[in-house]
Amino acid sequence: MIHKYKMNGMNIVLDVNSGAVHVVEDIVYDILDLFKDSPDFELEEKLKNKYGIEQFNEALMEVNKLKEEGLIFSEDTYKDFILSRKNDFQVKAICLNVAHDCNLRCKYCFASTGDYHGNRKLMPFDVAKKAIDFLIENSGNRKRLEVDFFGGEPMMNFDVIKATIEYGRNKAKNFNKHVGFTITTNALLLDDESIEYLNENMDNVVLSIDGRKKLMIT
Ligand code: SF4
Repeated sequence: MIHKYKMNGMNIVLDVNSGAVHVVEDIVYDILDLFKDSPDFELEEKLKNKYGIEQFNEALMEVNKLKEEGLIFSEDTYKDFILSRKNDFQVKAICLNVAHDCNLRCKYCFASTGDYHGNRKLMPFDVAKKAIDFLIENSGNRKRLEVDFFGGEPMMNFDVIKATIEYGRNKAKNFNKHVGFTITTNALLLDDESIEYLNENMDNVVLSIDGRKKLMIT
């Protein structure tokens, strides 16, 4: 797995499993998008036209060489170890990204203005319910568990939060456990009614108000 991003005019590529960091030319940066599960012939043609066939082939060779040397798209050698120890671990807490969306568009946002570089979406209750089941069923002897509601802006999905809390509490009770709830919010969607609900039902409410006014766009 790789992460690629641009910073200070540089094309940076991090190979997650080996920890190698590369600063690469534009063509290599673009070619890396070809290394997906299924071939993208349209993109390949586009890049050949953009950079010329010779440069394209050279860059492709460079990527393949890095791959052979285990410096890019390297194998996750830790995976088998984790799977073999699966039953030894107990899950204590989960963070539910209930909103891949936000009512703000902060320029500095770590989550690409709330959408995590994807489509703007809200988590359906069914998914949250499965996550609660997973937490409780994999928590071993732990009695106190934690669920964090996060986003984007989680208050955009308030109904699902409320349903999840009710479900989590009831399910935890059946297993003689307790779930504590936390929400991290920019607070702009709060009103008297929701404040009262949060005061009654959340163990922690984290207000995230960290941007200077001129960097926040509503
Ligand atoms: S409020 Fe938070 S999640 Fe929303 S855009 Fe700003 S930094 Fe991103």
